[in-house]
Amino acid sequence: MTIAKAAAGSGSPRPSLGLAMRRGLLGRCPNCGRTRLLAGYLKQVEACSACGETYGHLRPDDAAPWLTILMVGHILVPLALLVEAERTWPDWISKTLWPLLALALALVILPRARGLFLSLIWSTRGPGSERD
Ligand SMILES: [Zn+2]
Repeated sequence: MTIAKAAAGSGSPRPSLGLAMRRGLLGRCPNCGRTRLLAGYLKQVEACSACGETYGHLRPDDAAPWLTILMVGHILVPLALLVEAERTWPDWISKTLWPLLALALALVILPRARGLFLSLIWSTRGPGSERD
């Protein structure tokens, strides 16, 4: 039996890495895609209620915050440099606008990055997927 055919308990084939990561990015169960992967803002469910796949043991650690910071920086810094070179509004607007945009963007990206890394670890059985 290959790894691709070894779905936990269900006997159905595991989805491809790309499909599992797309499902994780959308916050869905990487195995079946029918239920939510995150129980709250960042905490993953212990197990999928539809397919029974367990996720409580996965530990992506700081990968999601790392990716979030990387993405926010790469999106906002070039944008800020472009906008600030041509701006006509007062300084206080810029000092309010950019931190709020950074915060909003980070809050949007962080759970998606967590879902992405959870699905990556689950799909590849990578470090962080060990059971105690
Ligand atoms: Zn599932």
